[in-house]
Order: sequence, then structure tokens, then C-alpha cells
Amino acid sequence: MVLYRKYRPQKLSELDSSAVRESLTRIFSSSFMPHAFLFSGSRGTGKTSAARIIAKILNCEEATGNREQVTNNKKKEEKDKKAVSQTDGKTDVSIEPCNKCSACLSITEGSNLDVFEIDAASNRGIEEIRDLREKIRLAPVSGKYKVYIIDEVHMLTNEAFNALLKTLEEPPQHAVFILATTEPEKLPLTIISRCIRINFQKASSEEISNCLSRVISGEKLELTEEALRLIAASADGSFRDATKILEQAVAENALTEEKLKVLLGKQNISPEKFLQLIGKKDTKVLLEEIIKMGQSGANFRLFTEDILHLLHDLLVAQFGIDKNKVSAEMVDKFSKNDLSFLIKLFSRVYLELRGASIPQLPLELAIVEWCEK
Ligand SMILES: [Zn+2]
Repeated sequence: MVLYRKYRPQKLSELDSSAVRESLTRIFSSSFMPHAFLFSGSRGTGKTSAARIIAKILNCEEATGNREQVTNNKKKEEKDKKAVSQTDGKTDVSIEPCNKCSACLSITEGSNLDVFEIDAASNRGIEEIRDLREKIRLAPVSGKYKVYIIDEVHMLTNEAFNALLKTLEEPPQHAVFILATTEPEKLPLTIISRCIRINFQKASSEEISNCLSRVISGEKLELTEEALRLIAASADGSFRDATKILEQAVAENALTEEKLKVLLGKQNISPEKFLQLIGKKDTKVLLEEIIKMGQSGANFRLFTEDILHLLHDLLVAQFGIDKNKVSAEMVDKFSKNDLSFLIKLFSRVYLELRGASIPQLPLELAIVEWCEK
């Protein structure tokens, strides 16, 4: 995880998810400042990085922009006449944190006294939320805001939720909450309705490539496009997983496409051989191969993707398109109906693999379904 930490985005413009980057930039460029955010999305999509960037934007000693405006607006609310004239200024000033002042640096280090990171998964947050309620009214130590980042917030107990709700209903002006969760559906609506919600979708291959490019140029690594694509494809939309795979590849000196394939567990049966066995409907051998792949930690999504590419090539070859891409012997093995059935079947497997509790199960079921057909 060294590389992931080292190359974490440190300002809005570095956020790899374009949708999140745009939403947050819009919010912080406007004069409206929410007191509670809800970041939802699967693991490794950059929720914590974004939360820390917000903490910095709010407390940076150098950044001007919206933060000043917000303060001014508050003063306006408090009928502070002096501030009113200043709020007319437009927001062309930078909203980014400087990443140099002591506030920014201490937030990066995780030692800032006004930024609280609570992991609700560890002890369901009872003590932390109690503590939060007791101390939230006290002024921030050195910054302008107290920022509470509550990770896996859906794990809080009911008691903790109720306590949190009370604070969310009437937060002091100096408090900002960032609630992060991988399972937003488990949150009470009363909490959700108090927050500005930002969805962190699984990263696209392009976004992952962008994220990895930062590491690659920073570490002066040499990686081909294809190797990059392999990593992006096996990261399952997670920036963290992608960086972890790259880190492992660096450690094992496996930066070429060939070596990466081995690293990602592709040294098992080839997709071509697997498809031949599918043609023979040899259930037992197929299942044995899948179990072997599971034991060696193969990436079933990548494997299924390869199978789908092959099936696609076979299908179009049946219509005389790109016939040289596949062997004639293979084309004869499957009818058009078979191919269409298999493509639907493996497309389903591909989707199901994302949430599978036993990684190889969707593939095994598909094999049984096909062979028993
Ligand atoms: Zn700063």
C-alpha cells in the first residue's frame, strides 16, 4: 500500500473519478457550503482521499476562494455588515488546498487536531459518536472547521445513528460531516436526507489508467499500454486494487505483459483450450480446471473476458468476418445458436463475478448449465 498512499490525490484536480471531481468542484465553487456529505460507492473508489481533500480545502491557511466566501456568508447571516460587500466577488480564486501550510500537511499526515477520522466498522462507533456529541460544540483547535469523516457509516449502531442524527439536525457552524459508505441502502433515510450525496462509481479503465500514470511517471516505471490495460481490467473499478497490483508487479519485477499475465494468475488453462473443452461438454474436466484456477488465485473476470472475446470472434467468423482470427476447427465446433447461448451465458457470468461470494461459483454454474443443456 506504499504507492497508494504516496500517490493519493491531494487536490480536487487530481481526483481520478471525473464525475466526483466535477461535483465537488461545483460545490466548492458555489457560495453554498453543505454541512454534511454522503460519499457512497464501492471500496477503493477514492472516498477517503476526497474526504481529506475537502478537509484541507476547509482548513488550508492559504486557500482563498469559497472557504472565505462561506465564512463571509455566515457573517452575512449573522448580519455582519462588513462582510457583505466581500461576498460579491466572483469565485475565480483557487479553491484548491495549498498542500504546503501546516494545516494541509498535518491533514495529509493524519495528525490534524480538527479532522477526525472515525471507522464505524471497528467498534460500531458508540464511543466515538458519544465523544463527538460531547465535543463538537467546542471551537476548532487551529483551523476554521472541525471535519468529521465517518467511514463505513452504515455500521453504526442504532444508538449511534440517533446520536449522529441529532448532531446532523443542528450542526454548529464550524462542523462539517463526511459520511462514507459502501452500503448506502443500510442507512436510515433521516440521515441520507440531511446530506449532499456523491456517488463514487467504479472507476472506468481510462480513469484507472490515469491514476496509474501518476504512479508510473512518479516512480519512472516503464509499462506498455497493454500491460496497463491488463492491470486496469483486473482492478475491478478500484483505484486501490489497481495500485496494489502495480505495486506487486514492481516488487516481483513483472512489468511486461507476459510476466503480468502470470502474476495475475493467467498461467492456467488458456481460454482457447477451455473453449475446446466447452465444445466437448466435458463437465468434470472443466470444473477441475476452474478449481485449479481458483487455487492459484486466477482472476476469473479477466478469464471470462477472454472467453467472451473468443466467442465473439467465433460468432462473426460464422458470417465470414475476420475468419483468420480463429481456427477453422473451432468455427465448426459451435453452431450460431450455441455461440449466441454461450455469449449470453458468459456475459451473465461476467456481471455476476463482481458480487460473487465464492469467486469461481458463477463460472462453475455456467459450465453445468451449458453441459446439461
Ligand atoms: Zn494549505
